[in-house]
Amino acid sequence: MAHDSFDIDRPLSAEESETLVAWRRQLHAQPELSLCEFDTQAAVRTALVSMGYQPIAVGGTGLAVSVGTGSGPALLLRADMDALPIQEATGLPFASQRPGAMHACGHDAHTACLLAVARRCKQHETQLPGRLVLAFQPAEENGRGALAMIDAGLLDGRWCGDPTLQVAAALGLHVWSSQGVGTVSAVAGPIMATVDEFKLVVRGRGGHGALPHQAADAVVAAAAVIQALQTIVSRQTDPLLPIVVTVGSIHGGMAFNVIAETVELCGTVRSFDRALADRLPTLLPQVAADAAKAYGATVSANYQRNTIVLNNDPTLADLVATAAGRCNQVLHVDRQMRMMGGEDFAYFAQAVPACFFFVGCGLPNGTSEPHHSPRFVIDEAALPIGAEVMLNSALAWLETAPRSGSA
Ligand SMILES: [Zn+2]
Ligand SMILES: [Zn+2]
Repeated sequence: MAHDSFDIDRPLSAEESETLVAWRRQLHAQPELSLCEFDTQAAVRTALVSMGYQPIAVGGTGLAVSVGTGSGPALLLRADMDALPIQEATGLPFASQRPGAMHACGHDAHTACLLAVARRCKQHETQLPGRLVLAFQPAEENGRGALAMIDAGLLDGRWCGDPTLQVAAALGLHVWSSQGVGTVSAVAGPIMATVDEFKLVVRGRGGHGALPHQAADAVVAAAAVIQALQTIVSRQTDPLLPIVVTVGSIHGGMAFNVIAETVELCGTVRSFDRALADRLPTLLPQVAADAAKAYGATVSANYQRNTIVLNNDPTLADLVATAAGRCNQVLHVDRQMRMMGGEDFAYFAQAVPACFFFVGCGLPNGTSEPHHSPRFVIDEAALPIGAEVMLNSALAWLETAPRSGSA
């Protein structure tokens, strides 16, 4: 396509970029937690309606629209919308106005980028060589939103009553603060980990702090359990397969002179490899029980998988990398970055070929706080880059996708 001023794939104008930043700031000031994105849904609906869309609520507090031409398979573009239970401490003029809630992961940026793509696509709908489904997803942080939208028929047209609107592929993005503005990562294969959650109750026998031989100390047993769990990483699994075991909370005991009867441990396990991941729900409770047994204690375990591994389709990763390389503001296309964080876009990627890519949003001086920090800020120069890479990737997919019954 030629880059004249009327083309759908031209770079974002100054006005489009300003509107994108304004949307992001508006969303940032009004963060809402997972499954409570009511005002966010309303704000996105208002923006979409002003562009000429008729948004449909999907998956509770989510929204979806479709745009384009023909009746062939569609490409899903997804943005998540939820915030975190964090008290914002950035001091920004558009900081959260809601105590205890903050857009500390950048989902406000994702939503704003997809709105910019939505606006451009609606303005030039006749130039779209196929159809897009634009999904504004709730509840990524608790891993429930993607499944809620899939259950509501997002991928098979049930959400809008059009059975021809079959989603054949999916794209999503995440801003990433440890990469500078101008870097985009599009990586093939497994890029984000399973998110497993466990809760262990170590149960001994309470007693007098001065008479340990008449009791079974759950605190000492729990300490042994915590140490033993790290040997899952160092001794029980293939060192070439990444895995993280983290005990995030420990609670037990009531008084200085009382031997605790129970200690509760909560934690998370992250891994990439499917066979390894499938061993963990048995392995972790077994290691914990064996360690506790040496101290006369038992362990009851609850182990659940919150999110599956996110696998990028190699062909789509190449397509996004190529599209990113064509954007003027993209200085570096990374093909390596993987991380042990989780992402429920994985459920879209399980259903159809997909690519989830990262858009560097780090501050120029390299002092960015990590995601989920109360001081998390992004360089807003990342916003037009995210929107352009998403748009150009989508256009590239539509131009090469198999078509049926084009109107
Ligand atoms: Zn997050
Ligand atoms: Zn996130």
